[in-house]
Amino acid sequence: MRQLHGKAVCGGIAIGRLGFFRGRDRTVTQVRIADATAEHERFASAHALAIVQVAALQEKALAEIGENEAAVFEIHQMMLEDEDYLDAIRGIIAEQNCNAEYAVAVTREEFARSFAEMDDPYMQGRAADVRDISNRLLDCLAGKSGDLELGDEPVVVAAKDLTPSETVQMDKRKILAFATGGGSSNSHTAILARTMGLPAIVNLGDDLDERLDGLPVIVDGFTGTVYIEPDAQTTAAMEKRSDEETARQALLESFKGKPNRTRDGKEVLVYANIGSVAEVELVHRYDAGGIGLFRSEFLFLNSGDYPDEDAQFAAYRKVAKDMGGKPSIIRTLDIGADKQIAYFNLDAEENPALGLRGLRLCLERPEVFKTQLRALLRASAFGKLAVMFPMVASVWEVTEAKAILETVREELRAEDKAFDADMEVGVMIETPAAAVISDLLAREVDFFSIGTNDLTQYTLAVDRQNARLDRFSDPHHEAVLRLIRIVVDNAHANNAWVGVCGELAGDLAITETLLRMGVDELSVSPPKVLELRKTIAECTLA
Ligand code: PEP
Ligand code: MG
Repeated sequence: MRQLHGKAVCGGIAIGRLGFFRGRDRTVTQVRIADATAEHERFASAHALAIVQVAALQEKALAEIGENEAAVFEIHQMMLEDEDYLDAIRGIIAEQNCNAEYAVAVTREEFARSFAEMDDPYMQGRAADVRDISNRLLDCLAGKSGDLELGDEPVVVAAKDLTPSETVQMDKRKILAFATGGGSSNSHTAILARTMGLPAIVNLGDDLDERLDGLPVIVDGFTGTVYIEPDAQTTAAMEKRSDEETARQALLESFKGKPNRTRDGKEVLVYANIGSVAEVELVHRYDAGGIGLFRSEFLFLNSGDYPDEDAQFAAYRKVAKDMGGKPSIIRTLDIGADKQIAYFNLDAEENPALGLRGLRLCLERPEVFKTQLRALLRASAFGKLAVMFPMVASVWEVTEAKAILETVREELRAEDKAFDADMEVGVMIETPAAAVISDLLAREVDFFSIGTNDLTQYTLAVDRQNARLDRFSDPHHEAVLRLIRIVVDNAHANNAWVGVCGELAGDLAITETLLRMGVDELSVSPPKVLELRKTIAECTLA
């Protein structure tokens, strides 16, 4: 038995055979052709076919995975229609009197290289896309169909890496799990696996190669381990684990659709934290009562430039609509500190965690803030949205943010644009200052959401990014718990409700303590929702 270790991106156990996905053989040789006009026509038909295929993939991705994935294919469409790219291919056919395959392969390498050499990481990432569309053109020239064959038996799909096209084109019924040599937690494989709830491990390294094709394997998506030719003992242990997991899932499923009440009848709201529109599907899958934290900065982080008002509006409106009347709390842009975006051109800071981040940045860049608030308010006409401001320390920050929100409301009224005039406004409690003055803050807002990740960092003066300080970072620390208690009491005394959306909300060892303090809502990552509901049902608060 051998083991490979990688980064677990979706939990679960899969037992089966490994199917190594090599991609298609696209070896290309240069062939002289007699009739360049005919070759141009052959290329034009392949090109037209590729455009149709990409449009179909975009539809498929939208239906099966979500908007984020589908957006990749929009980029592919644009690349396929890019005149520089097409001229390069046509030029090679004309000048060298050669086959279209050769012209496409040469252009693919040239364009991929120039993308890869760019400074901007976003543009570097486009090298994979240009390869993807070029390979599609090669397949169309070779008359190969779009769908990728996986064989009859479901397998653990292993690959060096998988392109968006490849992942989307696979028949999902034939996949037990994903294992890739490269890739990150946000790679397409990871997103797809999470959406499908399949075990997945990325970053397994170069030892994951085609020599493993057909071998029996076990994928442990909890620990990030792939067991190759597992021995009897490991197989028995993993089978047991897998059965326990199935039983646990069944138990959790039984909580779906039921209200969340403690044994002594206190009702608690259980919401989910998400970072993209596509994840709304997970909110439904795990039956969360709403979205307690939509980290809107991911719209900015996944973009090469400021997303404009309409792009943001489309995203928030989709959330509002897809949530079908359930509440969604959109947190305004929270960048700075650990989340840096090149196009913001922020000055380097000596202490970024104490720097221009969260609401501070929005108040310094009111035009960016206003664009987001306009998009959010316009979207509020399509469902139940709320807005909350991150990283607050003083009352004036909140009054200034609210004044900007009011200006935006007035603008929209003047433009006759619809919005929800009663949209709730909240602040995150992430600094000790905000907790201590929460009585004053509560008068300004409808609700609080306690961000225990930052509250712990700032209360204990422990950098949350520094793994070496793990021992010193304790969200159960009495100082943090006392602050939470103060916040809940101050909120309730001032008619505001209060939730927790940091990681502590999903820490089942502390659920009863938080509920005893009077926390009204807990917001956790979607896969945690059902477990939390089970724990709540077992709590007694009296
Ligand atoms: C928090 O700080 O607890 C929080 C939820 O915000 P983030 O983790 O995005 O900083
Ligand atoms: Mg935070």
